[in-house]
Amino acid sequence: MRIKVLILIFALCFPGWAADRFVPKNAVSTLPLDAGEIEFLQHIDYIGVCVDPDWMPYDFVTDQGDYIGINADFQKIFAERIGKEIRLVKTADWQESLDYAQQRKCSILSSATKTDQRLAYLAFTRPFNVYPIVIATRNDQPFIADFRTILHKTFVTVKGFAALDLLKKKYPSMQILEASDARSGLEWVASGKVFGYLDTVATIAYQSQKHGILNIKVAGVTDVLYTMSVAVRNDQPLLLRIFEKAVASLTETDKLTILNRWIAIAYEKKRDHRLLGYVVLGFGVLVVLLIVRECVVRRYRTKLQALNKELEQLSNTDALTGIANRRFLDHVFAKEIARARRYHSNFSVIMLDVDHFKAINDNFGHHAGDQVLKELSTLIGYTVRTNDLLGRWGGEEFLLLCPETDLEGALRLAETIRLKVQLFDFGIPQRITVSLGVAEYRDSQSLEDFLKIVDAALYAAKASGRNRVKAN
Ligand code: GH3
Ligand code: MG
Ligand code: MG
Repeated sequence: MRIKVLILIFALCFPGWAADRFVPKNAVSTLPLDAGEIEFLQHIDYIGVCVDPDWMPYDFVTDQGDYIGINADFQKIFAERIGKEIRLVKTADWQESLDYAQQRKCSILSSATKTDQRLAYLAFTRPFNVYPIVIATRNDQPFIADFRTILHKTFVTVKGFAALDLLKKKYPSMQILEASDARSGLEWVASGKVFGYLDTVATIAYQSQKHGILNIKVAGVTDVLYTMSVAVRNDQPLLLRIFEKAVASLTETDKLTILNRWIAIAYEKKRDHRLLGYVVLGFGVLVVLLIVRECVVRRYRTKLQALNKELEQLSNTDALTGIANRRFLDHVFAKEIARARRYHSNFSVIMLDVDHFKAINDNFGHHAGDQVLKELSTLIGYTVRTNDLLGRWGGEEFLLLCPETDLEGALRLAETIRLKVQLFDFGIPQRITVSLGVAEYRDSQSLEDFLKIVDAALYAAKASGRNRVKAN
């Protein structure tokens, strides 16, 4: 209930953000469509989409009938690029959506995994999103470097999750229980009933925040991927071809931007819970009035703020990647050291360097190298906590400053980053890996001495074969 109220407030502040139909600005496609495909589109008024109405953060239909979520954002992009309205066809649940697709009451399903049974009435585009299945464990469990070493443990996932079959096929001995929903599965992990919960990062982040299950973390990654395709009614091959082209037009940036937006919203909601507490306590009317006022005032203030912000950001931001530059890192470093000395608080630093980056430039060109640096910063930025500061230290070297973090915590984070980079598809036919050096700041060290230690750790990671994490 709380979540629904918040989505409403969010929609109120951003008019036009939520809708049950995505109407393109131009009725002309930006995709390379052929004459047959263009003619097909001219003969239809809109494309009806069926979705799972209760599958946050991927698909969700609000009480007001608006369609939101990660998949909704993808459909919005598809509508723009195809040049045709995509309209929600409302259903009670996922099963009814499948029935409607079979009865041709909707032309597409926002996302589905290909199964033999569904091929009788649906055709599938290539996957537009591939998510690794990850393992959520309790916070007190160690990080899992190799998934195959913990196969003997007990796991849980949501009943009917399409990736379950993939996991069982690949690892027949694995013991996987089926919970009725994500919340129960995560609670079983939190209470110690089972070792790990298997799902995508987005679902785990969203559901754990939504239900306040905070003593869990993503501790490892399996080698099984969950693929999502647009499912199109199989008697309209032209429509399938159009969606194939729409899916092919998606860039990694499109995908990460959408994912980031939804993970960020999930965290926002956690903070807003307190606000809602006050609403319940009787400040409801006041809060709603303040929000409305804020929305109106914000419109006039936005322009001025944007200009000021741009000015400030330019001087602190690295032009290529959009993350903090060395100047800003130095500034925050000085503050963090002063704080550590005064309050004896701890902080750690991770220094990261792309392995054999020169070869990437040499083989694929400087532009491809730049692109890798950009995507790498987005990927890492999305992995770290809000309090951590990621910056570009120079060239292909990044520095991550983690306040209130001991060496062990920083090592875990470094290992997560290393794995994610290794698994990420940068769009070039070469695996990209990084080496990471980690150190915890010790009382009274000078910045110079501390950096020497981090640097030495990075050097040790390189010297021991690269694609490693080392601490000093
Ligand atoms: P190692 O694993 O030992 O770190 O090998 P490496 O090739 O990554 O290291 P090296 O220091 O030999 O080369 C780094 C390269 O990064 C050389 C430089 O041309 C390139 N580089 C630095 N800044 C940029 C940039 O902004 N864009 C691109 N495309 N390349 C850059
Ligand atoms: Mg390098
Ligand atoms: Mg280097």
